[in-house]
Amino acid sequence: MAERRRPADDSERSVNRNIPYGRQSIDRADVDAVVAALTSDWLTTGPAVVQFENAVSCAAGVDIPAVAVTSGTAALHTAYHAAGVRPGTEVVTSPLTFAATASTAALLGATIVFADVDAVTGNLDPDAAAAAASHRTAVVAGVDYAGVPVDATRLAVVAHDAGALFLEDAAHSLGSLLNGVPVGGLADVTTFSFFPTKNATTAEGGAVVTGDAALSDRARAFRNHGLVRDRARQRWPDEGPWHQEIADFGLNYRLPDVLAALGSSQLSRLGSFKARRNAVFERYRDGLSDLAGIELPRCPPNADPMWHLYPVRVPVEERRRIFEELRADGIGVQVNYIPVYWHPVFQDLGYRRGLCPVAEDWYRREISLPMHASLTVDDVDHVIEAVRKAIGA
Ligand SMILES: *Cc1c(COP(=O)(O)O)cnc(C)c1O
Repeated sequence: MAERRRPADDSERSVNRNIPYGRQSIDRADVDAVVAALTSDWLTTGPAVVQFENAVSCAAGVDIPAVAVTSGTAALHTAYHAAGVRPGTEVVTSPLTFAATASTAALLGATIVFADVDAVTGNLDPDAAAAAASHRTAVVAGVDYAGVPVDATRLAVVAHDAGALFLEDAAHSLGSLLNGVPVGGLADVTTFSFFPTKNATTAEGGAVVTGDAALSDRARAFRNHGLVRDRARQRWPDEGPWHQEIADFGLNYRLPDVLAALGSSQLSRLGSFKARRNAVFERYRDGLSDLAGIELPRCPPNADPMWHLYPVRVPVEERRRIFEELRADGIGVQVNYIPVYWHPVFQDLGYRRGLCPVAEDWYRREISLPMHASLTVDDVDHVIEAVRKAIGA
């Protein structure tokens, strides 16, 4: 049997290379933090959770500790519940997102009203959101697509004019700023995801951040069965010292200490993750901006994003071929996203194609190139070469 040997040159190496579109960056300190939590007295509901909740609120620039939960999906479910989403209410949101932005509100009984996106950023268009909002709207939910913050100033006005709350699904944008303000301090309530491909990870995990103490309390109760342990808030405080009561239905969405410890360790490197992602962004721009057949991502001048995706747009009739060629070259490209209402579950509720033409056009032309903090300069150059070849430059 021949020995596995190191590739002799780049062309040979590129044949075997597989570059994922996103992945975690784990170092020794992360491993040590997890081991320390694992060998401590608390595997869950312990001090590492408190520490992580403080670290998230610090990164998000808010005073009230974050409510850590088990996923970004759980964060959305918790935030919508806390914001009063229930049967008879409506949630206005973008179709250019992962389905959880809409499906968690649908599970709470709300009607989802999709509003179209801005053609430059892919973010919820405030004018379209205003046209979609009504007195039934409980939440206007923007999504920071690819890490670029939504137009928070205008979306807050749209929401508040309708008597609704403004929620920011910031699964892509932990570490991003708008007008110098960190994502987390822009909306009434903000949700994060710590899935491995996101800007920082806890394996699975999420968080709800808000500056509203009452909303935070409702979120905190929901992630722990709706249990009330504070005697001052109990209906029957004299039941006995063991007593705790449920005043509102909730779930077990508690993030364990083992994962929270990983999260705190990751957040201490958020700045270096951002620098690395943004260096990848610039290298792609420098390597691809002369091509005619491809539109590169852009952001408004008042945004300072931590780029989570690198979404390019190519001609509709070329997208599938380019995507397949890149995949064949070992480039882990993705498409973000199929418009949410195209999913059969929404089709069956009566939603039809054509509803949001800008989002549909975006979907038909989009390809996400690999973007994460572990990409080497070599990896990025390899992707650039493969894209240039596929585009025919
Ligand atoms: C990843 C993601 C979610 C869901 O987060 P999970 O942690 O995977 O549950 C929600 N919204 C958006 C925009 C996402 O990218």
